[in-house]
Amino acid sequence: MQKKPVRTGQGQNNNKSNTVRSLLFTFLVICFGALLIVNFNRNEVQKTEVPISEVIQRANDPDGNIAKITVTGDTLDITLKGQDKATETSRKDGSGTLYDQGLVNHCEGLEGSDLTDCEGKYPTIEYKENVNTWGIVLDVSLTLLPILFIIIFFSWMMRQANSANSQSMGFGKSRARLYGPDKKKVSFKDVAGNEAAKQDLTEIVDFLKAPKKYEKLGAKIPRGVLLAGEPGTGKTLMARAVAGEANVPFFSISGSEFAEMFVGVGASRVRDLFSKAKKNAPSIIFIDEIDAVAHKRDARGGAGREDEQTLNQILVEMDGFDNDSGVIVMAATNRVDMLDKALLRPGRFDRHVNVTLPERKDRLEILKVHFKGKPVEANVDLEALAKKTAGSSGADLANIANEAAITAAREGHKAISNADLTEAFERVAIGPERKNKMMNDKEKKITAYHEAGHAVVGHVLPDSDPVHKVTIIPRGQTGGVTWFLPPEDRSYKNIYELKDILARAMGGRVAEKLIFGKDAVTTGASSDLSNVAELAKSMVVEEGMSEGLRNLVFPSEATGYYTITTGKPYSEKTAELIDAEIKKLSDEAAVRAEAVLRANKPVLDKLAEELLKQETLEEKELEPILAEAKLPTAAKLH
Ligand code: ADP
Ligand code: MG
Ligand code: ZN
Repeated sequence: MQKKPVRTGQGQNNNKSNTVRSLLFTFLVICFGALLIVNFNRNEVQKTEVPISEVIQRANDPDGNIAKITVTGDTLDITLKGQDKATETSRKDGSGTLYDQGLVNHCEGLEGSDLTDCEGKYPTIEYKENVNTWGIVLDVSLTLLPILFIIIFFSWMMRQANSANSQSMGFGKSRARLYGPDKKKVSFKDVAGNEAAKQDLTEIVDFLKAPKKYEKLGAKIPRGVLLAGEPGTGKTLMARAVAGEANVPFFSISGSEFAEMFVGVGASRVRDLFSKAKKNAPSIIFIDEIDAVAHKRDARGGAGREDEQTLNQILVEMDGFDNDSGVIVMAATNRVDMLDKALLRPGRFDRHVNVTLPERKDRLEILKVHFKGKPVEANVDLEALAKKTAGSSGADLANIANEAAITAAREGHKAISNADLTEAFERVAIGPERKNKMMNDKEKKITAYHEAGHAVVGHVLPDSDPVHKVTIIPRGQTGGVTWFLPPEDRSYKNIYELKDILARAMGGRVAEKLIFGKDAVTTGASSDLSNVAELAKSMVVEEGMSEGLRNLVFPSEATGYYTITTGKPYSEKTAELIDAEIKKLSDEAAVRAEAVLRANKPVLDKLAEELLKQETLEEKELEPILAEAKLPTAAKLH
């Protein structure tokens, strides 16, 4: 029997094909109708697109021309003064809320003539729920249509396969992006600090540039390189720099993208990715955030089977490599401890490059990279900023640089000043200042004593970091802030330092109790208390620092060591012991804080009084007041 190839052209009298065609037709009609309806609903004026940074700057300018900003999801509609319809539009980008980025409602909390006055200058900012009926209709059709489409598509495919030689439909092709020579290139110059990691990667680049040199000497070429380090330390950036330096095709895909895929597609994407890379060798495959697909197969109460297939396919492909394939697989993760061990075996990701949080010198370099091209005042002190940002990642520093520029723009400065830097640093660390937040006199007084309590205890205890700044201006979620700054970077803290941190955190609540009586306990100390609980827990559970359970550590659930289903790897009795030890530590901290504050009541009063007067005290102003304070024997540990 002769098979006729089925085509969707004319002259077909095949029943099934007709059904498919009428289905397709119906589908097209539905699409067309939906589009018409949506467009009809959207017959609005064409709006001008404006960058978000410009919108924020204009919204904070008392002479700006914006009357109203309506925020729906990430979209901003801007109505100008003297107009009744939005004529401009913008989109939020970057992380943090619009509020954090500087879109502040200046008129919030004002009344009467103050309000009228304010509304004349600054825009009203309105947040709208992102729901409308047409949105729902559109949403529903957008979810249903693809399903319908897929059903049609598959039945059509099956007919194709049955009656004629099937063609590859490009389904399951990898979505990997290729950073070719025309893409914006990143080089090692853009990655500041992290010299050790760069050194390791330079070797890889060298291999990709001159593979012969290595092959001749019989050197085994690394196959898989795993970049490991905390979030924001520049792993993705570094991988892109390798691609830029080596000047070879760079196929990149993120582990989280696999999660969105249909069943069975993840594995075929992997296959396709590797075959493309081999065809284009020498080349680099980069799997970012590989923990999303390659977490331990037993942890998390059983990984999804889909992830497991994807992971297996990665392993199969890596094992199938010839030594001279010229393909290097790089991967990045924040959580090496979560990765499936099979991935780390020889011949797979056997090279580890640790990307660490930057030290002070490196922080300065990173800041320089991110302030390059931004106008800064001559006396701007990046070194001081590098000094106080211990523990910050490269991404945090990039964020501070951007915030500083936004702050300078909002304040109408021509160049970024030291004050803009400080504001940006504190904003990134805690949140934006909220000067308009109403605080009555009583609340102010409580806050002043609370912060003074932290400062006095912190200053007096011998193993605590020096007090850098105290303020009772609300910022983010806090009523006030006491900043302690480590004099230098340290990787380890000893038990005395940790106990002093616990005591100074208790200082706020204890000062409130001393001054306003036992019953005047406010909610202002809740974050202090949860910090105490968290630190005390890690001292007991992770560091083996408690008396009763000294030198015993208990892996936490977060490491994937155990799950809710498998249960804690220790007995109920031990759990009770842990709780008791945590309580002991926090009680001790409260007792020490109280001893310090009772012995230094005049200093506490003086500091609180000064805070009420000036709101913010810097190191120089704090010194003479705190110099009077003494360490009572009851607070001594050693
Ligand atoms: P990760 O992948 O480790 O989470 P990224 O590579 O995405 O971190 O880093 C986020 C951003 O932080 C980068 O785009 C860059 O702007 C900045 N950054 C991080 N580390 C550095 C660094 N060492 N030098 C310069 N910028 C950095
Ligand atoms: Mg990353
Ligand atoms: Zn506090």
